[in-house]
Amino acid sequence: MKIAIRDDDTCFFTSPEEIEHVYGDVWQRVPVCLATIPFAIGYPRAGIPESEWHSGRAFPLEQNPELVAWLQTRIAARRVTVALHGYTHEDYADGFEFQAAPDLERRVTEGRAYLERVLGVPIHVFVPPHNALSKRGLEAVSAAGLDILGSFLSFRPSNRPWEWRTAVNWWRVQRFRLATGRRRTAPLIYPHALKYGRHAEFGCYGLIPGTTLEQLVAGVEEARRFGGDFCLATHYWEVDERLKSILMRFLDHVAAMPGVRFVSAEELFD
Ligand SMILES: [Zn+2]
Repeated sequence: MKIAIRDDDTCFFTSPEEIEHVYGDVWQRVPVCLATIPFAIGYPRAGIPESEWHSGRAFPLEQNPELVAWLQTRIAARRVTVALHGYTHEDYADGFEFQAAPDLERRVTEGRAYLERVLGVPIHVFVPPHNALSKRGLEAVSAAGLDILGSFLSFRPSNRPWEWRTAVNWWRVQRFRLATGRRRTAPLIYPHALKYGRHAEFGCYGLIPGTTLEQLVAGVEEARRFGGDFCLATHYWEVDERLKSILMRFLDHVAAMPGVRFVSAEELFD
């Protein structure tokens, strides 16, 4: 069973100390996939100066050379990997970036090329900002051949571009829903990578304020019962002492499970 960690929102506004503070005693056990924003535009959240919440200004990652140098070192040491997390991560009046921006194909292509050039690593995985992806967003990411790490992605055929695997994967998810005794609308994280024509998708469990250790343990035990894998997703900027303690106890729990292997998030798609 593969276990991975994903952390969202590394960008111009991030300082290496913030990430070191959360993962300095984690990534020797499991590398952390940093879902990184190439040209961040501010929005209201902790860690972004209030003056940038509505300024609409884009900040290329390179304008934080300390962070770029730190990322390169940590990538070389295999402590972190990097995924593409949108292009600007900006919110629109009618949706999040990968639901509402007009030029999604360009954003995927340019964002990926930019991170690859600045950080010197190939990018294989896309994480949608706010885990939100429209049919058009999905098409753009799939066309680029990037695998997708999400949380509550929709498998409903009407929400997706059509291909024969859409129906097969929908059916797989429904069988899992039945086998786990879930009602039709109950939230569900399918514990296997679902392969489509040009990409694959894997759903993560969130570690956010309100998450309990019991919920994560129940999730990982369910994934194990079904021969699946598990990925935990969080944001470094909201990991306080309580969340950090849950993270460490969760890692201790899974480390004691037989047959567990800590991997990078990219390896979930192997
Ligand atoms: Zn994000």
